[in-house]
Amino acid sequence: MGGEVRGNLRRRAVGRFRGRRALGVVALTFAALAGACRGRVDPYGTPHPEPPDLLRHSAWATSPPLGVAADAARRNKAAGDSLHFHDLTVTVLSTRVDSSGRTPVDRARLRLTRGGTSEERDVREGEAFNWRDHHVAIVAIYGPGELGAGLVAMEVATLASLPPEVAQSDSAGGASMRLRIPHRITHVTLHHTGDARPLTRAEDPTQRLRNLQAWGARDRNWWDLPYHILLDLDGRYLEGRDWRYQGETNTTYDPGGHFLISMIGNYEVQEPSPEQLARIADLMAWALRTFKLPASVIGGHYMYAETGCPGKHLRKYLEDGTLQRMVAARLP
Ligand SMILES: [Zn+2]
Repeated sequence: MGGEVRGNLRRRAVGRFRGRRALGVVALTFAALAGACRGRVDPYGTPHPEPPDLLRHSAWATSPPLGVAADAARRNKAAGDSLHFHDLTVTVLSTRVDSSGRTPVDRARLRLTRGGTSEERDVREGEAFNWRDHHVAIVAIYGPGELGAGLVAMEVATLASLPPEVAQSDSAGGASMRLRIPHRITHVTLHHTGDARPLTRAEDPTQRLRNLQAWGARDRNWWDLPYHILLDLDGRYLEGRDWRYQGETNTTYDPGGHFLISMIGNYEVQEPSPEQLARIADLMAWALRTFKLPASVIGGHYMYAETGCPGKHLRKYLEDGTLQRMVAARLP
């Protein structure tokens, strides 16, 4: 996930959204709960098939997925980079830490462009505003020492697609305010969770998922796990985020279109078993059949961003074509 170092950086970020999360939670509770119902929001009118033997989200999680569906985009952008959404462009010109007040505030300078109109704007972390029929939320600005330092996490949406509570908010808010972004699957991409410690048989892998979900909501402002399906040491499939919505990243690639498979643990350190590799290949073959994709769309996170993910002990099976051959052998 590119979150390999997140444990070391947790301290500073803890609580960054705590105060803001209260805002809008009450108003959004109904919408969030309704949105969490399986199958209610079906952006393309397509069925929602699942791989065999899937351990459902509700079977391991103590918190339901949050967020509301919208016509939106979310990206992490560094100074000089732009987010494009329909005919709107948001460019990050610079970021800085404003230390003039009692507590330092991460700030960024943006340029917004739509049609022939352009405007520069100074924003602070956590604010939201409307501009030319769009809602822009500055979800986070990662300062020095934080995971993703120098990146601005932005969410933009059409005002028309948002519930009033979000459209009218001048705060980006926490995980309950985040947007579920529908996407069409075009890639099947392998990750590992990159935890500080490898996963061992001594522990319950579902506890890692609950920890990741809680950390993601608190420190990364994610409405659910960043990945769609996760695998434990037995190669069991554990349901993450509803795959009809794009996943999350701490890096700068666009996760839209990617079906995100993630191995729980740290595969820079631990080795996958033959059984786990077979289960990855089974799942990738299922995804190619389900989404009607060619084998060429199989990849790893490292192919799309500056990261070692999914770890050298998994990466080697993508780099030498082993996994691709295993998947091909499972296709008709
Ligand atoms: Zn990754």
